[in-house]
Amino acid sequence: MSESNIEFDCPYCGYPNFSPLDPLSGTQQWTTDCENCCHPIALRVKVRGGELEELDVEREQD
Ligand SMILES: [Zn+2]
Repeated sequence: MSESNIEFDCPYCGYPNFSPLDPLSGTQQWTTDCENCCHPIALRVKVRGGELEELDVEREQD
């Protein structure tokens, strides 16, 4: 089973980050920390047929 990654720019500092993508179809949401500035980033992706269909990157709200 191969694991794919998504690439996204940090909404705080613009640093390019990578996160593993679960190829399961549907909408997935999780939070990750920027590798550069360590701020929490809220990710939402939509996957269909193992392919990334939509990617939303937002600042995590406190
Ligand atoms: Zn950052």
